[in-house]
This record gives sequence, C-alpha cells and structure tokens, in this order.
Amino acid sequence: MPQCGVELEPNQFYCSVCLDLLKDPVTIQCGHTYCRSCIEGCWDQEKEKGTYSCPQCRETFSPRPVLGRNNMLAEVMHPRCCF
Ligand SMILES: [Zn+2]
Ligand SMILES: [Zn+2]
Repeated sequence: MPQCGVELEPNQFYCSVCLDLLKDPVTIQCGHTYCRSCIEGCWDQEKEKGTYSCPQCRETFSPRPVLGRNNMLAEVMHPRCCF
C-alpha cells in the first residue's frame, strides 16, 4: 500500500497552544482541538471574564464548556446511536 500522497491535516495533530503533538486531545465547540491541559489552562486564566475563548479562532463560549474525551466523537458517530 503506498503511503505517500496521503496528506494529513497537521492542525488535527498539533496543539496551537503548546505547538506540540496533542496530548489527551479534546475538541471544543468551534471544532478546534487542543490538549486538555492547554485549553484548561487558557480557560482558567479567563475565569474572571466569565467567557471562555478558543485560542485559535477567538470564538467565545459561556458558560465554560465541559470537555469530553475525543472518543466521544466516535460514540456520536456510531450508527446505533442515531436510530
Ligand atoms: Zn497543547
Ligand atoms: Zn476555534
């Protein structure tokens, strides 16, 4: 099987906060993915403002979103959950 020619979306595997590979990735409502510790750290700093923003697209959320594990997505897409 040829492996070349497969272009991966780098943003899906790198966290734009720590610029490292995602560790314990979580996807927030705007669709961006961060390490859990990075986004939690960002939002801890925004606690006083009462709104929580995505470091990448600046979309704001209030109240603070609950971060689920990324494998939650797999559950959502599981066909047996739909019907
Ligand atoms: Zn990170
Ligand atoms: Zn975003």
